[in-house]
Amino acid sequence: MSEERPQRIVIAGGGTAGWMAAALLLKVLGRAVTVTLVESETIGAVGVGEATIPQILHLNRILELDEAQFLRATNGSIKLGIEFVGWHQPDDAYMHAFGVAGRAVGIAPFRHAYARGKALGHRADFGAFSFNEAAARALRYHPQAGGGAIPHLVQAYHFDASLYAKMLRQQSEAGGAVRVEGLIDSVDRDGSSGDVTALVLQGGERVDGDFFIDCTGFRSLLLGDALQTPFTDWSHWLKCDRAWAAPCAKGGPFRPYTQSIAHKAGWQWRIPLQHRTGNGHVFCSEFMGDDEARDVLLANLEGKPEADPRLIKFTTGRREDAWSHNVVALGLAAGFMEPLESTSIHLIQSGMERLLKLFPGGEDNTRRRDKYNELTRIEWERIRDFLIGHYKFNKREGEPFWDACRAMDIPATLAEKVELFEESGTIHRDDDELFTEEGWQQLFLGQGIEPKSWHATVDPIQESELMKLLDIISSAFAARAQKLPTHEEFIASITQKEPA
Ligand code: FAD
Repeated sequence: MSEERPQRIVIAGGGTAGWMAAALLLKVLGRAVTVTLVESETIGAVGVGEATIPQILHLNRILELDEAQFLRATNGSIKLGIEFVGWHQPDDAYMHAFGVAGRAVGIAPFRHAYARGKALGHRADFGAFSFNEAAARALRYHPQAGGGAIPHLVQAYHFDASLYAKMLRQQSEAGGAVRVEGLIDSVDRDGSSGDVTALVLQGGERVDGDFFIDCTGFRSLLLGDALQTPFTDWSHWLKCDRAWAAPCAKGGPFRPYTQSIAHKAGWQWRIPLQHRTGNGHVFCSEFMGDDEARDVLLANLEGKPEADPRLIKFTTGRREDAWSHNVVALGLAAGFMEPLESTSIHLIQSGMERLLKLFPGGEDNTRRRDKYNELTRIEWERIRDFLIGHYKFNKREGEPFWDACRAMDIPATLAEKVELFEESGTIHRDDDELFTEEGWQQLFLGQGIEPKSWHATVDPIQESELMKLLDIISSAFAARAQKLPTHEEFIASITQKEPA
């Protein structure tokens, strides 16, 4: 016997989160539900969020978005990883490149061969064994670049998020979503269950529903204000609490990667789009004033600013339960972690995919809700740990912000991971953890954490053979990368625009 499921789904808020939720609901559940989305042009969306991670390809596939059309519509570009400039020492840089590094030796991931080679005196950086990094540094890309002994490139995208939301809105409205323009004034709740029954708009109009998705951004009108779900504050670990954001004209090379450049009390993003570069300076107000932070941003643009810098204030952390009563929050309404690893849009996607998997039924949703909240908490905490690692393991001595980050205590989950890696080169990931072993390894090595040992499988390899293997892999990746079209040429070919 099938249960009586909620049919009228109401989404509060129409930023990236709201329209992603609407598009996915309609694609997956079709006519099993009705979708109504309420948003207010007076309030508008946060208007930042331009870098993604490879999981976005999965979302685009579910939504049946054609890549060329998507890149054209959003002024998008390719992202092969993130370059971290000055995070370890002020004058060094490393990359968190997507994809697999090197070649596994038996059951041991490549990093064990790399660690032994390094101990024997091989001088190449780990990045030389990532084909993604080789292509990124050569400013080149082609989807069929890999093959034979060369791994395939793994990409994500940079895009104009407001154009992406517009695209998803068109798709959702064509699929039957009803958009209501209006300012949500209050939330009605059932007297006995406490469930939300309707959004009440300024002027008195009611939008009734069976299940509600809170996408109201930092306001968190349903999960936060109405249901009073407690907020767990992580700002003692992730100390930055403000960002200046400003687009500028294209200036430097058309990089197929994001840059994250450390500054005195925070860091700056550079995100290359087809028509401009997105920039922002994320900083900690305890260690730098707003005016100085804005000046740092303006002094580090590669082109003329195209708008006045905009200040965005935030508190890092998350709502303890992302699903409470008959409300799930997505996007900024569920919480926020700074965009250091471009994870926010992914968290909307995974939150929505999880909701679709555990979609509510009629009477009792306790188990589904508890599982949803448990999996969501784990996902957020593992990402949090990854971000904390960038700060904790810096060597920027003598700069008060960075000194404070080095001195802080870290979560036990992160400490355990680091200790295991230092001892044996092993990286343990939980099943649903977002970042790959390569990701963790690049973070650890980039931040100066070296393993003292490696897996026994690589011991029998003769020293000369191991050195030769490392040379062959790194030179083959570099040589193949040089043969690819430039990022500029690839984007021009796919969007049918002339290279700039
Ligand atoms: P918003 O965009 O704020 O949308 C909120 C919606 O709610 C709007 O439609 C608004 O009209 C509506 N609303 C609010 N109150 C009411 C009301 N009373 N009545 C009616 N409607 C209402 N993410 C990434 O993945 N990559 C990045 O590179 C990245 N960079 C970021 C940089 C910064 C500085 C910040 C702050 C965030 C960044 N993010 C990034 C996060 C990303 O911007 C958000 O996850 C994404 O835009 C989703 O936002 P949202 O839809 O939750 O909220």
